[in-house]
Amino acid sequence: MASRRIAIVGGGPSGALCAERLASAGLPVTLFDEHLAWEKPCGGGLTHKALHSYPFLLNGPHPKKVIQRVELISGNGNRAHLCLDHPIVIYSRAVLNGLLLDRAARAGCRIVRSRVSSVDITGKSPSFTAENVIQHADFLILASGARNSFFQATRPLAPADLEITLGYFVPSCADAIQVKFVRGLQGYIWSFPRCDHLSVGICGSLARHTSRELHQHLAQFMREEHISTDGARFYSHVLPSPRAHTLASRCVAGHNWALIGDAAGWVDPITGEGLYYALRSGELLADSLISGRPEVYPRRVRNDFSADLEIAARIARNFYHGRFLGGAVTTRLIQFIERSVTFRTMIVDLFSGAQDYASLKRRLWSQLATTLREALDSVLRPAKSTTPRPNPGDT
Ligand SMILES: Cc1cc2nc3c(=O)[nH]c(=O)nc-3n(C[C@H](O)[C@H](O)[C@H](O)COP(=O)(O)OP(=O)(O)OC[C@H]3O[C@@H](n4cnc5c(N)ncnc54)[C@H](O)[C@@H]3O)c2cc1C
Repeated sequence: MASRRIAIVGGGPSGALCAERLASAGLPVTLFDEHLAWEKPCGGGLTHKALHSYPFLLNGPHPKKVIQRVELISGNGNRAHLCLDHPIVIYSRAVLNGLLLDRAARAGCRIVRSRVSSVDITGKSPSFTAENVIQHADFLILASGARNSFFQATRPLAPADLEITLGYFVPSCADAIQVKFVRGLQGYIWSFPRCDHLSVGICGSLARHTSRELHQHLAQFMREEHISTDGARFYSHVLPSPRAHTLASRCVAGHNWALIGDAAGWVDPITGEGLYYALRSGELLADSLISGRPEVYPRRVRNDFSADLEIAARIARNFYHGRFLGGAVTTRLIQFIERSVTFRTMIVDLFSGAQDYASLKRRLWSQLATTLREALDSVLRPAKSTTPRPNPGDT
């Protein structure tokens, strides 16, 4: 691949990290993005899984908020609190995109601010139009996010594979993440504190919910939590939330092209986490290209994370709409977190990425008796057993 020209459309986390890896290996790579470092609508939260794989995102000098407390709120107002062993780090997306693009440029990638208006992979080599000029490459990488519809072969994601998101960047501060579930909503509301503002928003299945509905739920949450929209900036975007068969059947690569990140649909359909999968897919594609074997990329992604996302997709509907012991699953989840140390530990592991979906069911069943005993004990002796796990940051 050493002399093959590689073009990347999109300079978000997937495109920028892929570009950095390719350029570091000496491959000639050019990245096109219409905005470059911009405040893409996003929570900006990076889990331990992402920070462990890309430690410069935790240790680097760029402004970020390190969070160890999470408050979960059920549809009927119950609250549970998690103290994370490993923090979640929250970036403004302008900062995150900027630092990843800087690393790509320092590695030798040529970065061009330009909108790509069309792409053609039917010829001998892929071509695309940027700034009204037709350009050619030997390999084309599409990292252009969830709205990608450039190749017919890849089909745009269907409404049932997407979520609407909307929210506000609010000029306010907080020290804990809040996540609220709403009855009947296939999605959730979040408040993610950043260094100097909050990203507050809501996501819901595009096939099941309207933006008007989401607006109403979000407005009620903000009223209840006393979060003002004064001086806030509104945002809205789509987020992939792929169904299992979409993940299993979607075509993500051809002989001279590949999709990475949101363009491929790689987002956790339960949590909406996409940053880790964007970075990881960019890295896996770069490794495949550097080794001269781009054809192994889809298999590597499947072995690495997409099979686990398929399991998450099968769980997602039950998670948001299912019932357990006569109540909504999300309500029971919050009650068990508050009342069982064993259950709480498992959810903390799920948050950090230490617990995958493949072995979640086994762990849930193997701990069920202990969880129920602890919950019962806590109901009978509330003062003794509702003490949360100590926060490593607390003195
Ligand atoms: C509201 C919201 C909240 C989220 N919160 C979180 C979170 O807290 N944690 C998490 O892990 N994930 C979160 N996600 C998901 C996360 O934002 C995405 O998974 C991630 O940004 C995907 O990265 P990417 O590089 O694939 O695509 P993007 O970040 O979307 O980047 C695509 C880039 O392509 C460029 N582009 C697009 N079209 C063109 C074109 N035609 N020509 C040139 N350039 C183009 C764009 O300018 C953009 O910079 C959230 C998503 C949303 C919508």
